[in-house]
Formats: sequence, structure tokens, C-alpha cells
Amino acid sequence: MPTAATRLARKRLRLILLGALAVLCAVFALAYPRLERAFQIDIGDRDRATLELATQVLRGGLARTEALPALLAERPLLSALLRDPDNSGLLPFVNEQLRQSALSLGVSDIYLMDPTGLTIAASSYRTERSFVGRNFAYRPYFTEALAGGLGRFHALGTTSNERGYFFAAPVLDGTEIAGVVAVKITLDAFETTWAESGATIIVQDMSNVIFLSDRADWHFRTLGPVPEIGLEAIALTRQYPIAALRPLPARRDALAGSPYEIVTIEDDAGRETLIMQTGLIAAAGLRLSILSPAYPAQVQALNVLTIAGLVVLFVILGAAVIWQRRIRLVERLEAQRDEQARLEARVLDRTRDLDAANAQLRQEIEDRVRAEAQLRKTQAELVQAGKLAALGQMSAALSHEFNQPLAAVKAYAENAATFLDRDRATEARENIVLISAMADRMASISKHLRNFARRPQDKTGPVPMRPVIQDAIDLMRPRLEAAGARLVYAPPEVEIWVTGGRVRLQQVIVNLIGNALDAMDTAEQPEITLSLTVAGTRCLLQVSDAGPGLSDDALAQAFDPFFTTKPPGQGLGLGLSISYNIVRDFNGRLRAANRAQGGAVFTVELDLTDPPADIAAQ
Ligand code: ADP
Repeated sequence: MPTAATRLARKRLRLILLGALAVLCAVFALAYPRLERAFQIDIGDRDRATLELATQVLRGGLARTEALPALLAERPLLSALLRDPDNSGLLPFVNEQLRQSALSLGVSDIYLMDPTGLTIAASSYRTERSFVGRNFAYRPYFTEALAGGLGRFHALGTTSNERGYFFAAPVLDGTEIAGVVAVKITLDAFETTWAESGATIIVQDMSNVIFLSDRADWHFRTLGPVPEIGLEAIALTRQYPIAALRPLPARRDALAGSPYEIVTIEDDAGRETLIMQTGLIAAAGLRLSILSPAYPAQVQALNVLTIAGLVVLFVILGAAVIWQRRIRLVERLEAQRDEQARLEARVLDRTRDLDAANAQLRQEIEDRVRAEAQLRKTQAELVQAGKLAALGQMSAALSHEFNQPLAAVKAYAENAATFLDRDRATEARENIVLISAMADRMASISKHLRNFARRPQDKTGPVPMRPVIQDAIDLMRPRLEAAGARLVYAPPEVEIWVTGGRVRLQQVIVNLIGNALDAMDTAEQPEITLSLTVAGTRCLLQVSDAGPGLSDDALAQAFDPFFTTKPPGQGLGLGLSISYNIVRDFNGRLRAANRAQGGAVFTVELDLTDPPADIAAQ
């Protein structure tokens, strides 16, 4: 999730990239012309050697021919022919000699002119374009030689239509100049060599006319203005065809920081840029220039800039990628931080909720503990109330129980008194022993009552069932006897230990026997059966009667508090409910059922347990 900070960083990155590109473009725009110029100068430097070589070759070629006319002029045959031009015996001889010489010297033409400029003998005498009979008085080399000097000239041959270089020397007859001998060489061979050099080589004369060039279309074109006198001289000497003298569509600029020139030629064929440098052949009045295409400099400059640009671009892009990664990292870290904060907030919320729930739970537990304590208290009070109710029910029988021994005590006491009066001590003693027995019996009943009525202090633990049942029977004996009921009970031979509380279990049994008696109050021969057995890990105590059994209502609700079918004053409906809770407290069960042969059966089911260690040892 991009934040304001990372958005800003991204924007800044974009701006810096654009800025860097702009700076790069500007640097390139500034650097390109300089670089191109440097490479152009390089090209010029490379061409310099070629230029020097070409100049020397041309200069050498000319120098080699330069001396030939003077040497030829010394031949006596030439002066002899000049003296006697009509000598038909001599002329063919001279012609042939000149032809032989031209061949052996490797020059184009050798020819002999009389003082008027008329050619009287020539090496080309046998050819169609023979010079013989032609007059070259208009050529400067002729006039120069006739004046006694060395004549030299370059021109397009008027006869041969070939560009050539002419040298001429006077032919002396004694001390007088009798004529002129001229040697012509062609220069095509130089051009052929130059064409192989790759560069364009041109030779201009002092009037800026291109006389030689390996580019044939440039012949007689001009590179620069032709001076007025120059033009007149050309016309006068018929050096070049005037019509061919057209300027090349070229612009010339100095190449700054170098002795070279940039020549831009623009014609229908397109635009051409060349780097030019010029050397001088002073003696011949010629300038030799070499022109190389400038485009390799352009290509090289572009290459260098492209490579540099790519490198710089690569570096910038690399930096941008690293920066971008950094931004992404920052974004991720921030997202993680946000997520963590969110999680922490959620945890805090949850913790708060949990704390609240915990507090509520604690409160509920406290409430429950309080309620339970209250319940226990109420239950204990109910148990107590139940016991007192049972006692109340027994009160009539109890009063009978006490009255009967009391009456007997009274009778025995009176008897004892009478026996004492009659000095019959033995009989008196017997009666007193009986009185004591009666007192013991009443004390026993009273002890049971006290134990029963006492608030239960008994702890839950191992309890022997046989004495508990015996105590309950003892407690109920007055009522049983009052009802004339028979109790069938065969205690097991081995003690049965259960988990429970002695007094409370006793209370349960008293309740069950009491209920059984109540159920059979109209029966003539009430009978209650007690059985104590073991089933698996449980102890079963069953109290059954021969009464009417339990109604459906009673079967369903007998254990509910305050459920009773007895008339007011005789039952509270608490006995079974209390008993049920007591048994349940000992992890036991209390069940009610009807017997098939009639009557109800109540079953107390309790956990068997081991006797306490001391009793077990006995
Ligand atoms: P109370 O004895 O005060 O009525 P109990 O809780 O001891 O209260 O008994 C509830 C009811 O269960 C009795 O009113 C009676 O209807 C029924 N009941 C208990 N024991 C027997 C029994 N042995 N035979 C028939 N009905 C019984």
C-alpha cells in the first residue's frame, strides 16, 4: 500500500529520471559537434600521408620529363631539318626517330616546330591525329621555349583531346634558335592510381580549375572563382574548353583547429561532405588536394555517443531500479508496520473483551459459589427440618415407648418396696435389676434420638452399612412395634463399607421405613423387608413394603420437594426429596419402583469402598 512518503519518492524518482535524460540529451547535443570535428581532424591526419605521396609521385613524374626536350634539342638531325625543312630525304628520318624516342621514353608525343610554331616533324606522323602541319604558336610552352627558356604547360590537347603536360626547349642552330622541340605526357595514369586510394584526389591550377581528378565528372570544373585574367589566358592559350568551366556546387569552410577544410557539395544527386587538404607543386603551378568523405567521422561520433549514452543510461537505469527497490522495500516495511499495528489493536480489543468476559465469569462463579453455599445451608436446614418432622411423626410412638417402661419401672419399684417390707430381699433385688434394665433401654432410645436430632457433623467417608441399618431399626422400633409391623432383615455376614455419612444414611433409612409404615397403616399384618447386597462396585439397600405402591403421579414426582399424598399435618413432602439429595451427595442413587407382587420398593445405591486402615488391620 503506497503511502504519501513513497508516492513522493516515486514522483521524485520520475522527475530525476526525466531530468537525467534531459541533461544527457543536452550533453550529447553539445558534445556531438566537437566529437565529430575531432574525428574529422583524425581523417584529415590520416589523409596527410596519402596527400604527400600523391604530390611526390606527380612531382617526380613531371620532373622526369622536364629535362627531356633539352636533351632531344641537342640532336643535330633536328637542327638540320629546321635548316632545310623541305628536305624530303631527312624528314621521314626525323619523324621516325621522334617516334622511336617517344616509344622508348614512354612519353605521349615528341614534336618539332619551326619558329612560326608550325609542326614539321612529330612522333605521331603516322597516325590519324598527326601533329605534323599543325601550328602551336598559341601555346605558352612554345613562346617560352622560343624565348630561350624551358617551356611548360598543361592543357587539353587540341589535336588529341587528351589532357597532357607539355615541356618544350629551343633547338639551336649554332647560337640561333631555329625551332622548338616539345614533349607531351599524358596524366591519366596518375588518376588511375589515385582511384585506388579510396579518397578523391584533385589537381587544380592557379585559376582554381580542376585539371586532374579520379572523378572524371569533375574535370575542368572549378572549386573557387576563376580570376578574370586567368579566364582570358585560358581562352588565348586554348588551355581548356571554356564551356566546360563550371563551378562545382560546393561550399568551403575551414575545419576549426586544423589546416583542413570542409567541402560540402550539394547537387541533384544529393549532399556530400568531404574533408579537404591541399599541397602545392610550385614548379608546375599546380595544387594537389585530397578529399575524404566526412561521414565516417559522423558515424564514429554517433557510435561513441551512443555507447557512452547507453553506458550512462544503463547506470541511471541501474540506479533507478535500486531506488525503486528501496521504495518498494520501504512500502513493504510500512505495510508490515501497519498490519502489525492493526493486529496489536485487534489483540488489545480481544484482550479487553476477554478481560471483560473473565470478570463476568468470575462474578458468575462467585454468585454460583454463594448460591451453592446458600443452597447447602438451606438443604442442611431442610434435612434438619425433615429429621424433626420424622421425630414429630414418631412422637406418639416415642411417648408410648417411654410410658411403657416408665409404667413397668413404677410397677417394679412398687413390687420391690413390697418385697423389702416383707424382708424378701432376693425378690426385691430382682425387681431393682429389672428397673435398671428398663432405665438402660430408655437411655438407649434417648441416645438414638439425640444422635438423630443433632445437626449433622458427620464427614463423608467409609461407613459400615450393618451398624447404620441396625441403628435406624433401633430408632424405628417403637413405631414398628406400635404398628404391629414385622421387619424382615437378614444382615450379611461380612461388613459392607460404602462412601457416605453415618447419620445422614441413617436418616435416609429411617425415612424409607417411616414411609413404608405410612403406606401400610391400614394393613392388618404390615411387613417391611430390608435387603443389603453387593452388585459389582455398588452396594444395594432395598426397602420394600406390602402397601399399595406408588401412583403414577407419585412415581413421577416422589422425589420433588413438597410432593405428598398425605393429609395435612401428616406429611410435608420433604422426606424423599431430602433423602434423594443425601444419596446423590455420596455419588449414589435413590430409585423408586413398584413390586410385581404389590407394594413399593426403594433402592439406595452407593459406591463400595475399603474400610479405614485401622479397622481393616483388625
Ligand atoms: P411425606 O411422607 O411427607 O408425604 P415423602 O417425600 O416421604 O413425604 O413422600 C412423598 C410421597 O411419596 C408420599 O406422600 C407418598 O405418596 C409417596 N410414598 C412414599 N413412600 C411410599 C411407599 N412406601 N408406598 C407408597 N407411597 C409412598
